[in-house]
Amino acid sequence: VTNPSDSGAVDLGAVLETVRSEIRPYFGKGRVASYIPALKRVPGDKFGMAVALTDGREFRVGDAAEAFSIQSISKLFTLMLAMSTIGNEVWRRVGKEPSGTAFNSLVQLEYEKGIPRNPFVNAGALVVLDCVLQRTGERTADVIRDYARVLSRNFSVDYDEAVFASELKTAHRNAAIANLLRSHRTIHHDAEQLLALYCRQCALEMSCLDLARAFLPLAHAGVSPSLQEAILTPRQAKRINALMMTSGVYDSAGSFAFRVGLPAKSGVGGGIVAIVPKHCCIAVWSPELDRSGNSLVGTAALELFVQLTNLSIL
Ligand code: GLN
Repeated sequence: VTNPSDSGAVDLGAVLETVRSEIRPYFGKGRVASYIPALKRVPGDKFGMAVALTDGREFRVGDAAEAFSIQSISKLFTLMLAMSTIGNEVWRRVGKEPSGTAFNSLVQLEYEKGIPRNPFVNAGALVVLDCVLQRTGERTADVIRDYARVLSRNFSVDYDEAVFASELKTAHRNAAIANLLRSHRTIHHDAEQLLALYCRQCALEMSCLDLARAFLPLAHAGVSPSLQEAILTPRQAKRINALMMTSGVYDSAGSFAFRVGLPAKSGVGGGIVAIVPKHCCIAVWSPELDRSGNSLVGTAALELFVQLTNLSIL
C-alpha cells in the first residue's frame, strides 16, 4: 500500500473488506434522518461501499447494490445539467463559497439578499434547479431521471414516490427558502412548482454501485470511460470537484477535509460520493447521520479507505 499513482498496487477488494470490519464500532453513534418521515423506516445498520476506477475496474462490499434515497447527492446531477446547458449564467445566481451553516439554513440567505452561498446548500440547489427548469420545462423530472440512468448505466433508476410525497408534505423549511428566493427574484419559477420538483429530485433511489459509476466522469476530466463521451469539460469537472471540496458536506467541510481529504457530496439518506481525481469515484452508504446530516459510518469508512490506500488528495 505505497504507491497511490499506481492503481494496481493496492488490492482494493481487500481494502473494502478491512473497512467493513473496522467500521463496526461506529454503528449506533449517529441517527437515521427522521424529519423526512419515510426515511425513518430504513434500518440503521446498513452499510455498502463501491469504487469505480477510471481504468474500468470496480470493487464493492456489503449492501453496495441496494438502492437507497440519494437526497442531496442529486444536487450533483442538477449542477452538472445546469453547467452543461446554461453554462456560466449559473454563477450569476449562486455563489461559490462555503456556507459554514446547515444545509437548510435561512439566516444567511436573508442577509445576502437572496443569493445562496453555493449550489449545494438547499437554497443554492433550488436556484440550480430553477436554471435547469428554464431549459427543460415540463420534462425536467424525466430529464434528471434519464441523466441518472444513462450515467449509472442502470435503466431501472427511478424516483421513490413514497419518499417524495413524505418530504413534500413536511417541507415547510424548504418552502420558506423557496419563497424567500422568489421574493428576491433569484428564482424565476413558481416557488411551489420548484419545491415539488426539488423534493422529487431528492427522492431518486440509487445504489452505491450506481453512484460510483454515475459520477466517475468527475474523476476523469469530465469524460465517462464507459460511454466514451465527454459529459462535462475538464474545467467544469474541476469546478464541481472544487465546490464539493469546500461545500459538499455543508458545515462539516473543514473536519471532513481534515479526516478524509477528498471532494465529496453527502445526502441525508446516508450516502456520500467522493472523488479521487484521475483515479476513481467512491460511493458509501450507511443511514445513521452525524449532527451536520452526513453519514457518520460513511465518513469513518472514507477516512479508513484513504488511510489504507494513500488516496487522499491532500
Ligand atoms: N431533501 C433534503 C432536504 O432538502 C436533502 C438534504 C440533504 O440530503 N442534505 O432537506
